[in-house]
Amino acid sequence: MGSIEDPVPSSILIIGSGVFGLSTAYALAQRPSYAHTTITVLDRSTFPAPDAASIDASRIVRADYSDYYYSALCIEAQKLWRQEWGAEGRYHENGLVIAVNSAEDAEAGGKREEMQREMMANLKRLGLSIGKRKDGADVSLLENREAMIRIADGFDGAAGDAGYCNWTSGWADAEAAMKYLEKLARATGRVEFKNAEVESLLFDHSSSTVKGAKLKDGSKIEADLVILAAGAWTPKYIDLRGVASASGQVLAYLDITAEEQAQLENNPTMLNGSNGMFIIPPRDQVLKVARHGYGYANFRSIPHPEHPESGAEIEVSLPWTKMDDPHLSIPKEGSDACRDFLAQCIPHMAERPWSYTRICWYSDTPKGDWLVDYHPKWKNLVVATGGSGHAYKFLPVVGERIADVVVRETRDDLGKALHEKWRWPKERCSSDHIWTNDWRGGRKGMLLDEELARK
Ligand SMILES: Cc1cc2nc3c(=O)[nH]c(=O)nc-3n(C[C@H](O)[C@H](O)[C@H](O)COP(=O)(O)OP(=O)(O)OC[C@H]3O[C@@H](n4cnc5c(N)ncnc54)[C@H](O)[C@@H]3O)c2cc1C
Repeated sequence: MGSIEDPVPSSILIIGSGVFGLSTAYALAQRPSYAHTTITVLDRSTFPAPDAASIDASRIVRADYSDYYYSALCIEAQKLWRQEWGAEGRYHENGLVIAVNSAEDAEAGGKREEMQREMMANLKRLGLSIGKRKDGADVSLLENREAMIRIADGFDGAAGDAGYCNWTSGWADAEAAMKYLEKLARATGRVEFKNAEVESLLFDHSSSTVKGAKLKDGSKIEADLVILAAGAWTPKYIDLRGVASASGQVLAYLDITAEEQAQLENNPTMLNGSNGMFIIPPRDQVLKVARHGYGYANFRSIPHPEHPESGAEIEVSLPWTKMDDPHLSIPKEGSDACRDFLAQCIPHMAERPWSYTRICWYSDTPKGDWLVDYHPKWKNLVVATGGSGHAYKFLPVVGERIADVVVRETRDDLGKALHEKWRWPKERCSSDHIWTNDWRGGRKGMLLDEELARK
């Protein structure tokens, strides 16, 4: 590490090449003050990591948030998605329908409708117009099921009872845009990519610093500054009990014909805010159905990551993916939920078998705010995780915001507000495992092992 007068580190190790890690590497590589800093991005998989949350066919890009600041950050990101970032099919601005199930929502105290109203208020505040599609409005109301059905070509059912469509939202080809970012990062000539699995961080208790990382093969990588961006795997490397947890989310894909692709591809994404279910328009004749849910916890006992010498163990939820078990499929409960939503929206496809399923892992925090901050104890450790199922859309801009945290700078009011949200919490939650409370669907409290065992 440089001296107090010159706090610029001479080396940075970034663990994880997902949205958070890679975008930060690219942003730091462009900072003039870091021109002489070596930047290494380390991932356990060769890029793109097949089971990373950031790698998939599609991710929704929406400024539709009940929180003003995430809405505003997405508006910034969308300006770039609409340019080079979204070129060559990486971004499609087809619109996004946000629907609610009226009876279900009323039973739950009308919270999801309230969320919708807040979203629309934010969109309005950010300059979007609300009115009729035929008059060129950015956002149009869908007052009933008939309007829901009419809005989507090839849908013979409705995503919900009522809602709205934001025509300025869209979806990104997640893997393609990550590859684009990798190209940008490599082109700087400043980012070294390394392929190895971290076993543990090298904690120096006497100086309250992290010296680097110990790898699975026993070797070490040392660095002045470590940025831990290992997504849902992060709780394996630092104690995140009561701060952030891994939750498994279901994705199901089905093959469609070329004709069906042509019919469905220009539709808006369909998202039901009452149960978290969504269908993103197809890509390459594959349609995706998924759920933004409380997810599955996968508890494992592991040595205390910050005190392995003590012999103490902690219990945390960690990802379990096809890289751990190539035959892993989604639990019946999740498959049924995806099938029900497919049957609700496109009944004539309801019987079609899934061609592929996947459990994809969120790093979840209590309210869904990310965790991007210096660690309160380990002085030269930055944690960048807690995406809580909604960080992808910010890919073109999030690295700069994380880099601001790293260099301890605030460029504007938005950055200030966001950093407040992303701070390491003053207190941990009383329960070790986090079940995020935003607009999750599915049951709270599901355990992966138990759900996989149900036939
Ligand atoms: C099913 C699903 C749907 C989603 N939908 C949306 C959406 O529609 N819109 C949206 O904006 N966001 C969405 N998200 C959220 C978004 O994808 C994530 O917030 C974001 O990708 C998280 O990025 P990350 O860098 O934290 O994690 P990841 O992309 O998971 O990256 C972590 C990396 O760390 C690496 N790693 C782990 N352990 C080690 C180790 N020991 N050594 C070295 N490397 C390691 C992994 O290989 C991985 O590459 C969704 C997420 C999921 C799972």
